[in-house]
Amino acid sequence: MSEISLEHVTKRFDSTAAVDDLSLSIEDGEVMGIVGPSGCGKTTTLRLTAGFETPDEGVIAYDGDDVTHVPPENRNVGLVFQSYALFDTMSVLKNVTFGPRMHGVGKAERRERARQLLDLLDISELADRDPTTLSGGQQQRVGLARALAIKPRLLLLDEPMTGLDAKLKQNLRKELGDLLDDLGVTTLYVTHDQEQAMSMCDRIAVMNDGVLEQVGTPTDIYESPANAFVANFIGTSNLLKATVTPAAIDFGFAEIDAPEFPGTGPATLAVRPDDFRLGAGPIEAHVENVFYLGERVQAIATLADGSEITVEASRHEDVAPGDRITLDIDAEHLHRVSR
Ligand code: ATP
Repeated sequence: MSEISLEHVTKRFDSTAAVDDLSLSIEDGEVMGIVGPSGCGKTTTLRLTAGFETPDEGVIAYDGDDVTHVPPENRNVGLVFQSYALFDTMSVLKNVTFGPRMHGVGKAERRERARQLLDLLDISELADRDPTTLSGGQQQRVGLARALAIKPRLLLLDEPMTGLDAKLKQNLRKELGDLLDDLGVTTLYVTHDQEQAMSMCDRIAVMNDGVLEQVGTPTDIYESPANAFVANFIGTSNLLKATVTPAAIDFGFAEIDAPEFPGTGPATLAVRPDDFRLGAGPIEAHVENVFYLGERVQAIATLADGSEITVEASRHEDVAPGDRITLDIDAEHLHRVSR
């Protein structure tokens, strides 16, 4: 277990920076997620942290020790990559004892470690199986046991659940989240699935184009997105142009009271679809489309200035395409994402 830090790390491929001046610290025992669109630099960050890539600039440290140029085999990291297949010529048990064997751990101890991990992951009965005969979910657990068997300083997970069906993913998400909590192992978890990251990670780093846009707890990132990119990438946000005055927020077509809203002047404000209140209010909109999400309904509506918003309401609300609706927003649910 360790504290990991990346300080001003840049990695270029040809002339483009896959990771651009990234500074990020992961506390001891913390599960840090990295999310962002395809090509934003998530995997490169992970590979740099593991030692498979060397940064062009910056320093990577484990517990304060500079490991920037230390090869991956000397960093004691546990890896679960989507493409990091199990050894299919070895039994499940041998897969799990392989790492400790390479690290010179004696036979009795490595078998004991493997037994404990297989037990913890609820796959003891698979110990003698050939990995090629396992389901995707079982293979994923064996991969995790294999990564944990070396007692890693750091666990690196790259899209470990890709290819699993939705139901299994949901179950494993809960189990893996609990397991990482119990183990207290410092973890970097790369995924493009923001729901997985939100439910499993202590903090999340949101990347875009090699740049770190925001790092914070799932609640921070959802409730107080730092900018329009984060507001749109994590969940759905409506971005509204407004002018903030000392007492109110003026959208041009409507105004809401906001005596405590910070700052004045022009601003782009983000509001979540379920933070609109349907019923009486100063904002009028025309419903274009309604989607049933189960418990809730989502309405796409146009405002007086022609811009489109997404509103979410209880399924008991009577909203239909063609309706004129009135909406209100509490100023506390509006977040400034840019001037
Ligand atoms: P995805 O979600 O699609 O896996 P990612 O966020 O993990 O994407 P990276 O794989 O880190 O993104 O890639 C970041 C950028 O660096 C991309 O533009 C990619 O094409 C480029 N890149 C990554 N590895 C290499 C390489 N070995 N050679 C050249 N370019 C690379």
